[in-house]
Amino acid sequence: MPKNKTHYEDCDILVVGGGMAGTGATFEARHWGRDLKIVCVEKANIDRSGAVAQGLYAINCYMGMQWNENQPEDHVRYARNDLMGLVREDLGYDMARHVDSTVHMFDEWGLPMMKNPKTGRYQREGKWQIMIHGESYKPIVAEAAKKSADKIYNRIMITHLLMDENNKNRVGGAVGFNMRTGDFHVFKSKTVIVAAGGASHIFKPRAVGEGMGRTWYAPWSNGSAYALPIAAGAKMTQMENRIVLCRFKDGYGPVGAYFLHLKTYTQNANGENYEKKWYEQTKKLVGEYIDHHPTPTCLRNHAFVQEVMAGDGPIHMVTKEAFQDPHLETVGWENFLGMTVGQAVVWASQNIDPKYTNPELTTSEPYVMGSHATCSGAWVSGPEDISPPEYFWGYNRMMTVEGLFGAGDTVGGSAHKFSSGSFTEGRLAAKAAVKYIEDQKAKDIKVDEEQCENLRKIIYQPLENYTVGRNEITGGTVSPSYISPIQGLQRLQKIMDEYVGGISVNYMTNENLLKKGLDLLKWLEEDLEHVGAEDYHQLMRAWELKHRALTSQCVTEHTLFRKETRWPGYYYRGDHMKLDDENWHCLTVSRRDPKTGKFTMEKMPVYHIIGDEEKKKAS
Ligand SMILES: Cc1cc2nc3c(=O)[nH]c(=O)nc-3n(C[C@H](O)[C@H](O)[C@H](O)COP(=O)(O)OP(=O)(O)OC[C@H]3O[C@@H](n4cnc5c(N)ncnc54)[C@H](O)[C@@H]3O)c2cc1C
Repeated sequence: MPKNKTHYEDCDILVVGGGMAGTGATFEARHWGRDLKIVCVEKANIDRSGAVAQGLYAINCYMGMQWNENQPEDHVRYARNDLMGLVREDLGYDMARHVDSTVHMFDEWGLPMMKNPKTGRYQREGKWQIMIHGESYKPIVAEAAKKSADKIYNRIMITHLLMDENNKNRVGGAVGFNMRTGDFHVFKSKTVIVAAGGASHIFKPRAVGEGMGRTWYAPWSNGSAYALPIAAGAKMTQMENRIVLCRFKDGYGPVGAYFLHLKTYTQNANGENYEKKWYEQTKKLVGEYIDHHPTPTCLRNHAFVQEVMAGDGPIHMVTKEAFQDPHLETVGWENFLGMTVGQAVVWASQNIDPKYTNPELTTSEPYVMGSHATCSGAWVSGPEDISPPEYFWGYNRMMTVEGLFGAGDTVGGSAHKFSSGSFTEGRLAAKAAVKYIEDQKAKDIKVDEEQCENLRKIIYQPLENYTVGRNEITGGTVSPSYISPIQGLQRLQKIMDEYVGGISVNYMTNENLLKKGLDLLKWLEEDLEHVGAEDYHQLMRAWELKHRALTSQCVTEHTLFRKETRWPGYYYRGDHMKLDDENWHCLTVSRRDPKTGKFTMEKMPVYHIIGDEEKKKAS
C-alpha cells in the first residue's frame, strides 16, 4: 500500500464540488455563518470547473420580477409542463422566487450582461433566458466563493462520505485524495453540501475512440453527486428521467440562441416540417400532453427520433435564412465562441458555413442531471412555508440523511434551474445548513479513526491491484488480474446502451432488458473490485467509474419501476409504450441499503401546489 500523507481538516460546512451550486453554497454559507468554518473541495480547479467551465452565452433562468416579465408561479407551470406533469413544485417555486437576486449579484460582480437598447432591461433570448458575454462566468462566481471560504481545496476528488458512529443516518464529513500528490484527505464536518454535478458517460456516447471526450454534457461529470448520497443510504428521485439533447451534430453546439433569438427552425432531408407528421402518433402515446404549449422537450425529441427511424433523416437546422442578416450571423458565431468553441471547429473542418449550408442536428446519448430539462437526483426536504408534509423534514434541501444537503444537479424533482438556479439552490442549501448547526443538530458527531483508515485502504486499492496484477500482463494492457478504468467504462456504457435505452437501440428498453442489465451491472460491480490504476490520474478514473456504475444501477432500478413511457424521446418502455396518468402520475423514490446494496422503490405523490393559468384567469 503506498505511503501517502494524511491531512485532517475539521469544519462546519463542507461543500463538495465548486461548480455553480457549490460556489453559491460557499458564498451564502459565509453570509449566514460568519463564525463558521467553511471549506469547499473541488475535483478540478474552481476557476474553470464544472459544466460552466468554458462559459455560457445565456443565463437560462431569470424571472424579471422587477419588470413583471414573469413570476415564480409561471416558472413552475413551465417546468411542470416540460416534465410532463412531474416536478416538485415546492422546490421549483422556492428556487424561482430567489433566482433574480442571484442574477443581480452576478451583474454587480462584473459579469457582462447584454442590455436591450430600447428598454434598458436585460436582453431576452427567450421567455426565461437572458443573454450574457459569459466566457468569464465561472471565474467570476469562483472569486465570490474564494473570498467566502476559509479554504478551497482544488484537485481533490471526494470518494466517500463519513458517517456518525452513533447515528448511522447522520453525516460526519467526507474523504478523498489529491489527484496530483496522491495524499489522503479527511474532512470531518458538521454538515456536507453535495454539489458535484450530473453524470455523463454512463451511456455509450455517439463519439467513441479518440473522440469520446466530445459529449454534450461535461465529460468530467461522473455522477459523484448521486453515488455519494446513494452509498450513504439517501433516497433518490426520478432517476429514470435521463435527458437526451437535440444539438448540432458532432460538436454538440447549443441550439437555444438559434431557435429563440435567430428564429431558425428544423426540417428533414426533404425540406419538410416533420414535427407535425408525428402529431397523431404522439397523441396516441401521451394524449393531450402533445397539445401543450410549449411542446415538452421530450416530445420534440420524439418526433426527431421517429423521423430518423422512418428514414427521412438527417434533420437539419435551417440557418441559411437567418444568417443573411449580418447581426444574426454574428450572434450565431459568438454563441459558440462564448461556450462551445468546438462546434465552430467542427464546422470549419467539414467546410460548413451556416450561411450557405444548413447544418445537421443529432440527438445525444442520455445523461443524468437535475438542473436542466430533467430532474433526476436526491429526494430533499423543501422549504417550510410551502412544502406539504411528505416533502418537508426540517431543513430546506436536506436529504433523508441528516446533515447532508444537496444543490444543483444533485437535487431531484426541480428541473430548469440551469446555472443561475443551481447557484441559487446552493445558497438555499447553505442557509439551511447554517440553521441546522445553530439548532444544535450537529452536536457530538463521532467519526473514529477506524472508519477513516478503512476508507483509506479502499480508496488506494486500485493502485495495489495494478502493482500486483501488472506482473501478469500478457500483452499490451491485458492482465488476467485487473481491468483498467477505460475497459470498465466501456463495459458499463455498453450495458447501459443496450439494456437501459441508449443510442444504439433508439432509446428503447423493456422489463426483460432492464432485468438483464441489472444482472450485468451487478457482475460489473464485482469486477470493479479488481480495477487497476497505474498512477493517481488513473486512480481518479477508477473512482469516477465506480461512481458512474453505482449511479447506473440506480437509473436502471428506477427505469424498471416506472411501468409506462412518460417521456418519449428521452426513453421508451417498449412493454408499456403509453403514458399512464392513472397509475404513474407520481414521483419515484429509491433507497439503497448501504449494508446489503439492495434497492427498494416507492411512489410519492405529486402535489400541484401552483394552479394552472386557465384557473388563475377564471378566478
Ligand atoms: C453543455 C451545457 C450547456 C449549458 N448551457 C447553459 C446555458 O446556456 N445557460 C444556463 O443558465 N445553464 C446552462 N447549463 C446548465 C448549467 O451549466 C448547470 O445547470 C449548472 O452548471 C449545474 O450546477 P452544478 O453545480 O450542479 O454542477 P457543475 O456546475 O457542473 O459543478 C459540479 C462541480 O463538482 C465537481 N465535482 C464532481 N465530482 C466531484 C468529486 N467527486 N469531488 C469533488 N468535486 C467534484 C466538478 O468538478 C464541478 O466543478 C448548461 C449545461 C451544460 C452541460
